[in-house]
Amino acid sequence: MMEDLLKELDLNYTLRLLKDMISINSIVGNEGEMAEFIKNELEALGLKCIAVEVERGRPNIYSKLTGKTTGNKINFNGHTDTIPIVDGWETDPFDPVIKDGKLFGLGVCDMKTGIACTLNMLRAFVESEHSFNGELSFSGVVDEEGFGKGAKAMLASEYGKVDAIVLGEPYSGDELKPIPLGITGKILYEILVKGKAAHAFRPNFGINAIEELGKILANLNKLNFQNHPKFGKGNYSTLKIEGGYEIYSVTVPSFARMEVNRLLIPGETVQSAIDDMKNLIHSLNLSAEVTVNLKPPRYEAYIDDQNHPIFQVFDSVYRTVMGKAPLYEYTIGITDANIFAGEGQIPCLHLGPHQEVAHQKNEYVPMDCLEPLSTMYSLIAVNFLK
Ligand SMILES: [Zn+2]
Repeated sequence: MMEDLLKELDLNYTLRLLKDMISINSIVGNEGEMAEFIKNELEALGLKCIAVEVERGRPNIYSKLTGKTTGNKINFNGHTDTIPIVDGWETDPFDPVIKDGKLFGLGVCDMKTGIACTLNMLRAFVESEHSFNGELSFSGVVDEEGFGKGAKAMLASEYGKVDAIVLGEPYSGDELKPIPLGITGKILYEILVKGKAAHAFRPNFGINAIEELGKILANLNKLNFQNHPKFGKGNYSTLKIEGGYEIYSVTVPSFARMEVNRLLIPGETVQSAIDDMKNLIHSLNLSAEVTVNLKPPRYEAYIDDQNHPIFQVFDSVYRTVMGKAPLYEYTIGITDANIFAGEGQIPCLHLGPHQEVAHQKNEYVPMDCLEPLSTMYSLIAVNFLK
C-alpha cells in the first residue's frame, strides 16, 4: 500500500532540485528568488502554493495536500535562507560540486537538502495519489539565520495551526547530531545606566554611570540560574559595553550601556529572566537609574514530549529505514522550533541530512543520505496521517 508511494521517490529529481537551489543565492535577507523557485516547483507538481511577504521581497511559502477525511495535520518546514559566505571555500559556494560522493554548496546541509527531500516526498504523494487523512503541508520560511521572523509570521497565521512540525534541519539522529528532545532559549539584555554628569575632579557631585555599570557587571554571576536535570544550568556572556566621552573631557560620564547574552533552559522564560536581572540590580542599591530592555532575537526554551505520536512514529520509522535506534539529546542551540514549540507549543521533530560541517566553509552533504531521508519523511507522513 505504501510501496506505491515509495516507488515514486526519485533521487534524480531530488538532486536536480538541490543543485538548482545551491545555485540560488539565498543568504539571509535575500530569500526572494529561492521562494520563487520553490513556488514554481510546487506548482509544477500541480499544487497550489501561496507566497506571503514577511518583509518586502522576503516571502514565506505555503502549500498543502488535503486528505480524504479530517485528521492530523503535519507540516514539513524548511528555512529558505542560508548563512553568509565564510572565508576559506575551496569551490564556488553557489556552484554545486560533486566529489567523492559528497555534494558541496552553501546551504546544502542547512537546509536545502531538507527542502529537496520534502519536495521529493510531496511529489511522490501527488504521483502515487496515495490516500491519507488530515493534512500534509509544506512551509518555507525566511530569516531563520536572522531573527526567526518567518517562523513567527507562520505561527501567527492559519498555516501555523498544525499538530506537528518536521524541521528538515541537519539532525541525523546519529552520534554526530542526535535528535533534539528540547532546545535551550536565549535573550539579549540591554542594560541602560543613567548617572549624573559633574566635573571629574569633584566626582562626588555626580553619579558615574560607567562605575555603576561596573558594579552590575561584577555581580552578574549572582543571577539566579535554575538547574535542569537534562540541561544543567544556563549561563551568561557580556557581549558589549559602552559609555563615556567621544571627545576627551574631564567629566563624570552620565550614561553607559551594556548587552548581555543569556542562555535559557526549560523552566526559565524570557519574562523570568527579565525579572531576575531587575531583582539583581535592585539588590545592588545603585545610585544610577537603570533600565533593563531586551534586544531581538529572543527565543523561549522548550522540551518535547517524547510520547507524542510524532516522536513515536519517527522512532519506529528511523529503526525501519536506518536499521538502528535513533539517538536523542537535549540540545544547546537555536532553531525555528524555539518559536514553533517554545512559543506555539507545537511538537517539533528535527530530522535532516548527516552534517559534519555546520556554519563553516566547504559545506557538503553525503549524497547517500538523500534516499533514506526522503523515505523517512514519506513514512513519517504516511504513519502520522493514517
Ligand atoms: Zn538551519
